[in-house]
Amino acid sequence: MATPDGDLVERIRPGVWAIRVPLPVGPTGGTLVHLLESDRGPVLVDTGWDTPACWAALQAGIAATGHDVADVLGVAVTHFHPDHHGLSGRVREASGAWVAMHPLEAAALRRLEAVGVDEMTSIGPAFLAAGAPDGAAGDLAEAAGPWQFPALAEPDRLLEDGAALDVPGRDVRALLTPGHTAGHLSYLLARERLLCSGDHILPHISPHVGLWLAADDADPLGDYLRSLDRCADLDVDEVLPAHGHRFSGLAARTAELRAHHAERLAAIRGHLAGHGPATLWEVAAAMPWDVPWADIPTVMRHVALGEAAAHVRHLEQLGLVGRELVGADEVAVFHLIPARLT
Ligand SMILES: [Zn+2]
Repeated sequence: MATPDGDLVERIRPGVWAIRVPLPVGPTGGTLVHLLESDRGPVLVDTGWDTPACWAALQAGIAATGHDVADVLGVAVTHFHPDHHGLSGRVREASGAWVAMHPLEAAALRRLEAVGVDEMTSIGPAFLAAGAPDGAAGDLAEAAGPWQFPALAEPDRLLEDGAALDVPGRDVRALLTPGHTAGHLSYLLARERLLCSGDHILPHISPHVGLWLAADDADPLGDYLRSLDRCADLDVDEVLPAHGHRFSGLAARTAELRAHHAERLAAIRGHLAGHGPATLWEVAAAMPWDVPWADIPTVMRHVALGEAAAHVRHLEQLGLVGRELVGADEVAVFHLIPARLT
């Protein structure tokens, strides 16, 4: 079934729908909002980006399922990113719905408000700290994309790991799956044997795991790998991710994602073993990416540096890599720690 905009609405099981809300930027084919019918009105898992076109698509999608946005009972957010949580405030205004997320996502919203988001001013210092060569940041005015965070709604309800979601007539549980963000929740529909995986497990791409907003001693990649382990054996028939398409074979997909990160970790250790101590910039340039490092645009290199930093942090936490601060700019230089003989 297609809405007037051509956005797809799919009935997955009786009373369980996927609504594809487009993204203003990016190639992922939009955000998949999942609508769970209940005895007291539909509950949405995520809502989509806050633009007029996305809002129109979400309302049209809800209408195509036979409901009205005014009847929405609640919004369960997987994580605070604007392609997931962007429209939650509008849905609440239109319906009086509750908006729920994990406490760590609510904390991320407050942190975001305090530090702000400005791609233009954050790239230069990040590149400098990574030991990038002069001029690597290029023309930032040209590089900056439309990646500004819109205002995001505060939640009314906080969901701890294992909490039952208020979806009358259904058994839906929140499952803490940190990594992509610190308080990322997946939602398990036990009776339907479905897992709404948000950005934690996607069918074709590996979700970004970086250090943005992470505490100094946090290990987001370690969290992510543990979250994969946690999901691998869930007894579900299908996974409903927030991007791409639904799929079966959860255990196989988690194994692929594990292997992907193992390959990157091995590449970093191999580089340090073969070339000696290296800056984060050099580590990132040596990691396997979908396109050669030299061809990655500035903004995406910034994202890639975050990914590299999370991998190096994980190796540091495992005691396999150490760092020294070098020069007046105190650029971190990473080295392998030889295996200790015990
Ligand atoms: Zn995300």
